[in-house]
Amino acid sequence: MLPVRPEVLRLRPYVPGKPIREVQREYGLTDVVKLASNENPLGPPPKAVEAIRKALSGLHIYPEGSSPELRGRVAERLGFPADWVMVGNGSDELLRLLAASYVQAGDHCVVPGESFPNYRAVSELFGARVTEVPLRAGAMDLEAMAAAASVAPTRIIWLCRPNNPTGGVFAAEAFERFMAAVPSTAMVVVDEAYHEFDETGFDALAVLKRYPNLVVTRTFSKAYGLAALRVGYGIARPEVWQPCYTVREPFTVGGLGQVAALAALDDEEHLAATRKLAREGKRFLEELCVDLGLRYLPSQANFVMIDLGRPAQPVFEALLRRGVIVRPCTGFGRPEFIRVTTGRPEELMRFASALKEAVQSGG
Ligand SMILES: *Cc1c(COP(=O)(O)O)cnc(C)c1O
Repeated sequence: MLPVRPEVLRLRPYVPGKPIREVQREYGLTDVVKLASNENPLGPPPKAVEAIRKALSGLHIYPEGSSPELRGRVAERLGFPADWVMVGNGSDELLRLLAASYVQAGDHCVVPGESFPNYRAVSELFGARVTEVPLRAGAMDLEAMAAAASVAPTRIIWLCRPNNPTGGVFAAEAFERFMAAVPSTAMVVVDEAYHEFDETGFDALAVLKRYPNLVVTRTFSKAYGLAALRVGYGIARPEVWQPCYTVREPFTVGGLGQVAALAALDDEEHLAATRKLAREGKRFLEELCVDLGLRYLPSQANFVMIDLGRPAQPVFEALLRRGVIVRPCTGFGRPEFIRVTTGRPEELMRFASALKEAVQSGG
């Protein structure tokens, strides 16, 4: 056998939300609702779809590698120079490029427990030793994370706000104290994939200019409804991105993705409707939990994590049989929880009646 790198052998493969087609095949169903991957229930922004149509005749031409137009527009909107923004093939690519550029074998990285699994995966891929710090009340315990980072020289500290899968957030003051406490040699990455849903007014960009070691990432996959096109971006000093440009493949962000993301930024109506729907969906799910006597975690994102008070796997399967896909949280170390994305009202009604049947009939 050809020798695979030990770092690769140790990686746990990412388990995505169960695809609609798979459930249709396995259960012989046609009408399946997916509330498992925090996708936009309204679909893509109409302006982005229109922009893609117009761009189709240019499919034979390579896109511009660094997405200069999109970079410029994002930077302008956020009040930064264009070279502070890097666009990636989803924000996932940026997380990996940061690890590839900065993590050496044996380096120490700090990740939150019960969070997005990629922080650990990309760190370990490049040989990092990873310390995982448990959440406190569903959000990152920044004091404990700063303490973990001070035990050994630390290369990257990964944060997620609002946190996936809990939806929890740390306080702005706690973040300020954390940034002041962390040594400037440790990079702090704040993954804000759900920033657009956050109603606390928090903005990690507010302190970005004061901390050269701070990186913020965001995405067009969630609130902007373009998950299939794979476009994300990061904001940091140009020096931070320089090595990432050297490491990256030349054309990772497709031309249609660049054009669609630009148009999505202009589709304010779609974004406003998306936020409103998420707010209402959360209220619906919270009331449902109260009705059923289930505990849930307060969320600033477009999903709610629900404590079923019993093993979630049989309930997850009972929901699948009724054509509703949610996300079991076993992979996050919470075998009694499910994570439910806020859907359209009719999708949430389907979920509500399926859940009632599932918990009342015991399957
Ligand atoms: C969905 C998600 C991402 C990935 O976004 P892409 O831009 O689609 O790669 C990153 N971080 C978190 C926490 C997510 O939930």
